[in-house]
Amino acid sequence: MSEKTEGEMTEEKKESINNVTWKDLGIIDILCQACEDLKWIVPTKIQREAIPLTLQGKDVIGLAETGSGKTAAFALPILQALLETRQRLFALILTPTRELAFQISEQFEALGSNTGVKCAVIVGGMDMVSQALMLAKKPHIIIATPGRLVDHLENTKGFNLRSLKFLVMDEADRILNMDFEIELDKILKIIPRERRTLLFSATMTKKVQKLQRASLKNPVKVEVSTKYQTVDKLQQYYIFIPSKFKDVYLVHIFNELAGNSFMVFCSTCNNTMRTALLLRYLGFMAVPLHGQMSQNKRLAALNKFKAKNRSILISTDVASRGLDIPHVDVVINFDIPSHSKDYIHRVGRTARAGRSGRAITFVTQYDVELYQRIEQLISKQLPLYKTEENEVMILQERVAEAQRHVKMQIKTIEDTKKSGKRKKRNDDDEDDDTEQSFGVRKRVKAKFKNNRKK
Ligand code: AMP
Repeated sequence: MSEKTEGEMTEEKKESINNVTWKDLGIIDILCQACEDLKWIVPTKIQREAIPLTLQGKDVIGLAETGSGKTAAFALPILQALLETRQRLFALILTPTRELAFQISEQFEALGSNTGVKCAVIVGGMDMVSQALMLAKKPHIIIATPGRLVDHLENTKGFNLRSLKFLVMDEADRILNMDFEIELDKILKIIPRERRTLLFSATMTKKVQKLQRASLKNPVKVEVSTKYQTVDKLQQYYIFIPSKFKDVYLVHIFNELAGNSFMVFCSTCNNTMRTALLLRYLGFMAVPLHGQMSQNKRLAALNKFKAKNRSILISTDVASRGLDIPHVDVVINFDIPSHSKDYIHRVGRTARAGRSGRAITFVTQYDVELYQRIEQLISKQLPLYKTEENEVMILQERVAEAQRHVKMQIKTIEDTKKSGKRKKRNDDDEDDDTEQSFGVRKRVKAKFKNNRKK
């Protein structure tokens, strides 16, 4: 494969690549039409490289990240092969997280909308019995996280994968980092050896190499550099402020860049919740997403943000990789990432699919070393995001009031939890994600007002 990035290509070569059509790759008409319906005019680089090889029957290793179009790079050839045989339990896609599994399923369904393809998403945190019923209907494609799939393979009567023709391991590096090795081994032992295997990973780690040797036959490697995209369309800044003024600067940025959609990254579930509560108190349309929320609530939060019903998603690194949220305009690293590589994943949530984007990283007196590591990693010194201190500080009083309110709100929530008086929450109440059930909110507001009067 050529090591050149698209940024280094001649105009002539770019032109000829832009002329490559889905049909040129060997895609059949019904699927070309599906791509057209999705307004995917031309195949992306990973699609141009991986699709013809997969259609030829080769095992493929794709070194590519989310955002490169890798899902369709494996979904299209699988759908094409499926249309030839129409076999049930045809392909298994393994992926590390629940959200990714749903996203992959959505793409399969969109691409296969005219073909009658049936998909089942089998992930943890959801009801086993209804999943068993879905599996009993023998879908064509199963998209699963490894742990829950093994659970079904071991405990769901009548379910097996003996006829499987395709295995895809998506984000294999993450699957392995999340200690799914034992589950992967179990799955690989159970499924037929005579199958096609596709492995996608952002990086080729030692563990991924080992997995590749154990599961792929004479694979062909294709690699897509995403560095070019990050450098070109993403405007990156830092802002250097005392830790105690982080909230007020955050609010100032929202005011200044109003009308955009934001993803704000925090380092802990607690700070995610706190920040979401603070912003909501101040009237912003913020929704939290973190690992302590139930699966249904995580999906609901994400869907609200995707549907643009909320303009601010406050999240831990649970959302830094893999999630496909096309319309993020600004990424804010409210808490600096402690692993520099997470910086790249976080800012990769914006400037996607040819659009431009902005990333602003908050650096406090405690973060200088971490920040320098990030600059080293990206081999760049970022410009300062300019703010007028006087303008920002006008907001300080109002933000301080919100901080006091949220502190009490969180204390009340904790007290209520401790005393065990908390009523069972309604799963559909979105405000519960920030522990803001109306009862609690009202009690806190009353308490707050009383305290102020005193
Ligand atoms: P992925 O890397 O698979 O997560 O895809 C990232 C995003 O690119 C998704 O929103 C896809 O819908 C979109 N996409 C995939 N292929 C194409 C294409 N050829 N042209 C435009 N958008 C695409």
